[in-house]
This record gives sequence, structure tokens and C-alpha cells, in this order.
Amino acid sequence: MKRIILGLAMLSAATPCFCWGFFAHKKINHYAVFLLPPEMLVLFKPNIDFLSDHATDPDKRRYAVAAEGPRHYIDIDHYGTYPYDSLPRRWQDAVNKYGEDSLAKHGIVPWWVQTMLYRLTEAFKQKDQARILKLSAELGHYMSDLHVPLHASSNHNGQHTGQHGIHGFWESRLPELLADKEWDFFIGKAVYISDPLSFAWKRLLESAAAADTVLRFERELTARFPADQKYAYEERNGVTIRQYSTAFSKAYDSMMKGMVERRMRQSIFATASFWYTAWVNAGQPDLSTLNNQSFSAEDLQEFEWLNNAWKKGTGNGREHESP
Ligand SMILES: [Zn+2]
Repeated sequence: MKRIILGLAMLSAATPCFCWGFFAHKKINHYAVFLLPPEMLVLFKPNIDFLSDHATDPDKRRYAVAAEGPRHYIDIDHYGTYPYDSLPRRWQDAVNKYGEDSLAKHGIVPWWVQTMLYRLTEAFKQKDQARILKLSAELGHYMSDLHVPLHASSNHNGQHTGQHGIHGFWESRLPELLADKEWDFFIGKAVYISDPLSFAWKRLLESAAAADTVLRFERELTARFPADQKYAYEERNGVTIRQYSTAFSKAYDSMMKGMVERRMRQSIFATASFWYTAWVNAGQPDLSTLNNQSFSAEDLQEFEWLNNAWKKGTGNGREHESP
């Protein structure tokens, strides 16, 4: 029996912890659609399932493209202490100071959302429906990753502090347990972001400031929680997995006073607002008359390729780094 339990525990430890989890990424893109003005809803509402399903494409790409990983995080603590003033906020200034290779090594998410915003703006200008949808889905992914505290810390999976698994705990287990039943995603309207770079950095610094709390509270709760009740074995898709128990998860969530829900809501708002900003900057094109309305053979091939890369899971994502 002991050997079986150990085997299951190892299986669980080897399960990749995706950014925000597939569940939360899909929810974020789904809810973001409802923040848009009617002129955008005409395109985004009928395609809400595509936007939600493809919210996870960037994570799938991590399995096949080496350059993909750094777009999802930044180890901001590599650059000193809060507020990390030694790191220039503008990409070109940061490149001049550290070089592109070094920046890539420690993650580039606050800059990558700018690249995605630019690409989406161009797609709106070209009135290219397939591209607008693909880029919108992916922009929502990176923007959401930016809001995750452990995406702004080199101790991203608690590997330096004996808390392995905390990454997936925060961004997958808690949303899966609580989002549908207890959290509120009524969020008002998207707004125009006049300074997207400052906006992204502000959100990123909030993530960085929260990372310590995320780690510390888990340590404190573990210390006073009955050790045999921290984890539970549950059946999922026919496989028994070890995960943080419901009681431990709820106790942790209440210690954090709604932090995960709050960051998820902010992710939704930021995603919708970046979509809206791209559309405004493109001159508010009429989205009821677009070109390129169906996905090309190459697009469809790419979607299949991403799915296969993910299923094979031979990746370059940093979730494969051992602690
Ligand atoms: Zn990600």
C-alpha cells in the first residue's frame, strides 16, 4: 500500500502546473467578452467558445517552442527588491542594460503583452477576423498570467521553500473548487487604457508584492493544519490524484481574503480592456464586415499541432524544472 501511495504522489508531483490552470484561463476569456461594447460584441459573442477554448493555446505551445516559456512570467526578484527600480520598464531600455538573452532567461511577460496588443491592433486594422480571434484569445492568456503572484517570483512553485505544488494550488485547485460556486464575475465595462505599458507594470508589481503572502500563508497554515488532512486522494477523469484537500483549500482561501477571486476579476477586466484598447487604436473598425472569416488550413493545422504537442507533453515549459 505504501508503495502505491508513493507512486500516486509522484504522479501528482509530475503533473504540470499550467499558468492559471486551463479552467481559469477559459473562464477569464469567457467572462471578458461580457465587458465589451455592442460594436465588439457583434464579433466576440458569437465566437465566445473559440475565445475560451483557445485561451490555453500559449500553454500548449510551451511544449513545442523554446521561446514560448519566458512570455508567461518574470522572475522579478532577480532584479533586486520591490519595486525593482533597477529594471527599466521600457523594453528597449531593458535590452540596452541587460541584453535580450538575459531578459529572456528571467521572463518577459510585461513586455510580451505589449507585443500582443500591437499585433491585435494591426489585425483589427486589417479587418482580419481569424487573426483578431486568435490574438484576442492569446492576449487574454498572457494578460492573466501577469496577474498571478507566482508568475512574478523565481520561487514560482515553492521549490526553494519546500512548498512544491503551491503554483497549481493557487491557480488551478482554488478556482476549480470555488469559482463557479462562490465567486462573482459581474465586472462592469472594459475601459480604454491610455498607457498600456504602465498598466501592465502596475499589475505586475501587485503580483510581485503578493507573492510573499501566497507562500507565507501556505507555510503558516501547513504548520497548524493536521498533517494527514492537508492532502486528499480524489478520482479525476479515471485517475486517482493527490491534491490539496477541500478543507485545506478553503482555509487557505479565507486566509488570503479573496485574493484569487480578486486577481481573476482583475484579469478579466484587463483582458477586455486590452481588447477594447486595440480596437479603439485601430480606428474602431466595423466588426460586422470583416475579411478572412474562416480559419485557414494552416490555422487549423496549427491548432492540431498545439494539441498534439500538449498531449505528448515533451516540453520546454519551466513547469518541468525540478525543484
Ligand atoms: Zn501561461
